[in-house]
Amino acid sequence: MNDKAFYLETFGCQMNVVDSERIVGLLNEIGYRQVEEPEQADLILLNTCAVRDKAVRKAYGHLGRFKPMKERKPDLILGMGGCIAQQEGKQLLEEFSYLDLVFGTHNVHRLPEMVQQVAEKHVRCEETEFLDRETRLQLFPSRTGQEAYTRFVTVMQGCDNFCSYCVVPYVRGRELSRPSAEILEEIRELAAQGVREVTLIGQNVNSYGLKDDGELSFAGLLEQVNAVDGIDRIRFTTSHPKDLSNDLIECFGRLDKLCKHLHLPVQCGSNNILKAMNRGYTRERYLEVVERLRQVCPEIRLSSDIIVGFPGETEADFAETMSLLEKVRYTEIYSFIYSPRRGTTAADMADETPAEVKQEQFNRMLELQEEISRQTWEADVGTIQEILVEGESKVGAGQMFGRSTWNRIVNFAGPADLAGKLVSVTITKAFRNSLLGELVG
Ligand code: SAH
Ligand code: SF4
Repeated sequence: MNDKAFYLETFGCQMNVVDSERIVGLLNEIGYRQVEEPEQADLILLNTCAVRDKAVRKAYGHLGRFKPMKERKPDLILGMGGCIAQQEGKQLLEEFSYLDLVFGTHNVHRLPEMVQQVAEKHVRCEETEFLDRETRLQLFPSRTGQEAYTRFVTVMQGCDNFCSYCVVPYVRGRELSRPSAEILEEIRELAAQGVREVTLIGQNVNSYGLKDDGELSFAGLLEQVNAVDGIDRIRFTTSHPKDLSNDLIECFGRLDKLCKHLHLPVQCGSNNILKAMNRGYTRERYLEVVERLRQVCPEIRLSSDIIVGFPGETEADFAETMSLLEKVRYTEIYSFIYSPRRGTTAADMADETPAEVKQEQFNRMLELQEEISRQTWEADVGTIQEILVEGESKVGAGQMFGRSTWNRIVNFAGPADLAGKLVSVTITKAFRNSLLGELVG
């Protein structure tokens, strides 16, 4: 055992968040404790995202900031993991002479050994091999121990969809479902430790189990999770519209613990572009799914991801996305200007729309969505909502915070011992990123 410190920065999606939790656990086991300031660290790690150029530049920017630190302190170990590491591999060591180690998305478990090697032998190392199915099945992150009322549980990894713009299948590898028995065991353990809400995560949870004989479907899995004592709430992300089965839609009417919120990325409202994106559904089919969801569960709220400026997208295509937003009335969207990714098929498509035009469309879309979102939040004022209290709020002393079934943060005055409980709160004020309320009774 040694007594060393590490500093970890995490970029990107829930998959990286979960991988980072695993990194923390593994490093603790070899005597490294986590610190909040890079200056105090003997080891600095960046867990990176490659989904858009902006995320990549941000990670490189952060890496560059550590260069002078490494020059002052040559024993400092600098490492990069996650999706950029997976995509660039050895190249990173060639490009950044001050980088010591590079680990891919399938190699997190190797980190302790790699760190020890660098520390003891002063070598630089890289591991970015994809693993075979059997090994991956053994390595699904399963987490216990941390104090929290809400937790992510990995149900599947990788993606086989190959949407034409997306790097994920290349950096996360093939889709693989985790055995349901293991998932349920983890959730039972979490419940026993006091966890009240689980979010089942994967790049495309709707296709869970489909490729494994005898495995539960995702709807079947949800039903089993719903039966776990002690769990009050279930969420899941992300959903691919093409795999949203009727069975799964019906879960929103049937399963009392399933939150009434679904993130259902549409990406675009135009059929031409959806086809070029290789999304596997049409605008009409998507709208039909939305309608069925609302029939089954009238209170359901939807959020989405949108890409603006895909190669070949015209103003008419863009208008279709705008009209879809007006039709669906998402409570929230995450919108992105298209970013070409090396190795994806869209990267080779002709893209003649000037950047200024894309930016202007992007702004127009935000404005429309902003108005739709504002209307939903404001209509919440005066309603009573059930909140799962997560802890003390940062907004002020004596304030607690939690989330509604729709995943909105609600702050309210209340005693600290409400943490982990479901309470009723009257909403008194709506802000852009949260609601304010008063405890009922
Ligand atoms: N597996 C999830 C999320 C994948 S990445 C899903 O299928 O929904 C998260 C979001 O990033 C995507 O939904 C998409 O809107 C966006 N995205 C992915 N690749 C992109 C690219 N090349 N340019 C811009 N946005 C992109
Ligand atoms: Fe990317 Fe499409 Fe897979 Fe989502 S479903 S991760 S957007 S390839």
